[in-house]
Amino acid sequence: MRTSQLITKTRKEAPADETAKNAQLLIRAGYVYKVMAGVYAYTPLGIKVLENIKQIVREEMNAIGGQELIMSSLQRKDTWETTGRWSDDVVDVWFKTKLKDETEVGLAWSHEEIIVEMMKTYVESYKDLPAYVYQFQTKMRNELRSKSGIMRGREFVMKDMYSCSVSEAEHDKFYAACIEAYKKVYERLGIGKDTYVTFASGGAFTKFSHEFQTICEAGEDVIYLHRGKNIAVNEEVMDDENLKSLGIKRDELEKVKSAEVGNIFNFGTQKSEDMDFGFVDENGERKLVYLGSYGIGITRVMGVLVEKFADDRGLVWDASVTPYKVYLARLGQTEVVIKAADKLYKELEDQGITVLYDDRDVRPGEKFADADLLGMPYRVVISEKTVAAGTFEFKKRTSSESELLDQKSLLAQIAL
Ligand code: ATP
Ligand code: MG
Repeated sequence: MRTSQLITKTRKEAPADETAKNAQLLIRAGYVYKVMAGVYAYTPLGIKVLENIKQIVREEMNAIGGQELIMSSLQRKDTWETTGRWSDDVVDVWFKTKLKDETEVGLAWSHEEIIVEMMKTYVESYKDLPAYVYQFQTKMRNELRSKSGIMRGREFVMKDMYSCSVSEAEHDKFYAACIEAYKKVYERLGIGKDTYVTFASGGAFTKFSHEFQTICEAGEDVIYLHRGKNIAVNEEVMDDENLKSLGIKRDELEKVKSAEVGNIFNFGTQKSEDMDFGFVDENGERKLVYLGSYGIGITRVMGVLVEKFADDRGLVWDASVTPYKVYLARLGQTEVVIKAADKLYKELEDQGITVLYDDRDVRPGEKFADADLLGMPYRVVISEKTVAAGTFEFKKRTSSESELLDQKSLLAQIAL
């Protein structure tokens, strides 16, 4: 992609009302456009990062048997009434609206009940189970406060997966597989080491749910880490009884701020009972389906990556999620420079290496500042000097030193 063709532009200042570092940088770099507090649009640059995150999640969900689908954003009131969750006293983040004929409908804040209702039409016998479905969908939540940029949206993208199993044993096996799949996801996103499986408040069926909490100063949660055992406890459930049941002591724990990047729940048969979701087993007996729900905050993860990796010069993307791998800056508008830069651009693209090619007629300083702000892993500079020397100037985003390389060494570096 040529910078001259990008619909977005970088800017020096973020909107005055934007206090979160992640949104400030993403807006300045042109990845995100702010519509209102807690509501952000993703530009051609931003959507590439989101799609890369989604693809990693998709691969890991498929690997454990997940099947992708997409549910609707408009939801029926009676679906939620079966579990009592249409009530604003029970769910305080609802956005609700009405059809022309006055029928009340809700805007999706979750799809738990909606998926169960759909699966009821497909699951009849044990032969139809287990079933694992997931989607990437926009959730709408009327959050009271939205000061964390894209880490807490009133509209945000979630991956939500649901498991339907015949027994507790079958459920537990998938639940454990999902924990491992989530670990792989966060590992691939570069936050594996800082992401902890965390004991958090459960539901009607289980004492705890499991959250995936990433250590992050800008996060809204507080967790207590046990580095030795590699687990953590959300402060919500920090009491002596719980610590005892987990076999850990208070003085072994370290208090840190964190962001909840995922949350998984065992519903047991509670929701199936409320919604009459059953199946006929091998003996012809009707039984209730075991349910689980597994979320990952896709847009929140993007915010966390910004918060954790950005530096004072701008965004820093890992190769796994970056919108383009290389920022190619051409200095000057002379024919020889244009020719050399066009040639490298084409050669890299032909090799499947994604490039943002800064072909604008602007000062070198502006190009360098934008390269840093945009955060691609590698910067390559072509100038009259480099062309004359038969070299390219190469710099990693995370390094302050650049080096001059011939084309072969350059390609070897970029391939890493
Ligand atoms: P929180 O406690 O942060 O409000 P939650 O527990 O209500 O989140 P879940 O219903 O468990 O959220 O949703 C699954 C995942 O979706 C969360 O783990 C989080 O990563 C993400 N998420 C939840 N709310 C938001 C939001 N308002 N904006 C962005 N991501 C969110
Ligand atoms: Mg949660």
